Amino acid sequence: MGDKILVVGCKKTMDDTCIGCSRCLVGFNRRVGAFADLGDDAEMIGLMHCGDCPGASVVHRLTQMALWNKPMAEQPTRVHIASCITDHCPYQRKLCAKIEATSGAPVVRGAHPFKPQALFTS
Ligand code: SF4
Repeated sequence: MGDKILVVGCKKTMDDTCIGCSRCLVGFNRRVGAFADLGDDAEMIGLMHCGDCPGASVVHRLTQMALWNKPMAEQPTRVHIASCITDHCPYQRKLCAKIEATSGAPVVRGAHPFKPQALFTS
């Protein structure tokens, strides 16, 4: 059985900026960026935000997801921390530590590789 992937991103980014989490989904589908080492049988089972600043509720959200997915026996085997967190979140050290300690799955820092290099030059 392949990996079951959960992506955790920044609430502010996921709600307001990153449309449809499309870049993470495309990165996963194409197996690029931090998803490059996943097998063809890997599945994306969730895209979840952190629960907002200062990252205190991420444990509750992981708990809710575990309960929600329990009837389907779908639990993540690997949690990716999206670049909206790794590149910008001032609370990421504690946030990632909580996710690592409570998810029961290995945490990988990074997700899609499609970040723009420059906005106003070609
Ligand atoms: S805790 Fe970090 S990842 Fe979560 S909303 Fe705030 S800045 Fe974004």
